[in-house]
Amino acid sequence: MKEKLEVQPRKALDIMKPYSPGKPIWEVQEELGLERVIKLASNENPLGPSPKALEAIQGVLTDLHRYPDAQTIGLKRKIAEHYDLSSNQVIVTNGGDELITLVSEAFLDAGDEIIIPGPTFSEYEFGAQIMGARAVTVQLKENFDYDLASILSAVTDRTKIVYLCSPNNPTGTILSKIVLKQLLDALPKRVLVMLDAAYSHFVSVEDYSDGMEFVRAGYPLLVLKTFSKIYGLAGIRVGFGAASEQIIQNILQVKEPFNVNALAQAAAAAAIDDIDHISRSQALVKEERERLYEAFRQLSIEYTVSMSNFVLVKLGERAEAIYEQLMARGIIVRHAGIWSLPAYIRISIGTAEENDILVSVLKELL
Ligand SMILES: *Cc1c(COP(=O)(O)O)cnc(C)c1O
Repeated sequence: MKEKLEVQPRKALDIMKPYSPGKPIWEVQEELGLERVIKLASNENPLGPSPKALEAIQGVLTDLHRYPDAQTIGLKRKIAEHYDLSSNQVIVTNGGDELITLVSEAFLDAGDEIIIPGPTFSEYEFGAQIMGARAVTVQLKENFDYDLASILSAVTDRTKIVYLCSPNNPTGTILSKIVLKQLLDALPKRVLVMLDAAYSHFVSVEDYSDGMEFVRAGYPLLVLKTFSKIYGLAGIRVGFGAASEQIIQNILQVKEPFNVNALAQAAAAAAIDDIDHISRSQALVKEERERLYEAFRQLSIEYTVSMSNFVLVKLGERAEAIYEQLMARGIIVRHAGIWSLPAYIRISIGTAEENDILVSVLKELL
């Protein structure tokens, strides 16, 4: 039967663009026939997963015939303790990405608006589009600072969510604690603020908040965190949100029962206590960030000072060509054209050895 297909998807799908992930190592190995491929493209932890998480996974393998805990009680308790919240203020999700989809499903009707200061993470817009809501983009300032006035002036009667990403992906810049509080105080209380703090562990200045204190203080704020970055568990998909009980209740209404698998629950509960792995990862990023800056200065490359485990680097007109030349030599980074920053590439911070190789190849190319 070769008839024209009459089945039609929702109208909302017409404008949806596919997510563009960093290329996986195996793909570049296969395409280019390269042995050594270095991935500095997805802000993963180059030290690998928390060893405590690996151990915990071993301990639950023989129970894989059982459904996971639908309420993620043990992990929720750990997270709540860690951040001085009640368990009812926490929702665990299949990666931070799932939280964004769930929030969109719980709070956005067709025609509603969300405000996205950008360039930033693309999943916020995805969440709006999937619901037929409108994503209103507000530009960050030229130095990639948040522009409070323009965020506030974008608020309308239809605004349901304001997204803030701090440290922001792909710029690495943060929203200071004072400005976050000003913004929370200035926004109408009917507007949900989603603070994406996926990279909070890499911030090395005082004037920063991951938002948890404002959740505890009762603001209409939802904080997103993930186990994919510092904890090194990107492959197993687990993240969480923290907010007031009522906001969490609303999100739970649209959650599938078994959204977080058993391995992920066990791994995350162990990783959150793995202080050694966390501090080693923080120290590596802090030290290597400085070393990369120094190398960029020597190469006369402009960079944005980053509070995260990646650095946005300005290469001008040659940015895309250099991105491709790096790829040809087995170094995967991101060309920032996907964020409408075609003159930039984003480099995730690797091990000292990986960063040295990156710098020496950049030296050759420039
Ligand atoms: C990586 C990332 C997340 C969450 O990623 P998951 O792997 O889905 O947990 C959320 N926000 C930003 C900005 C990120 O870069």
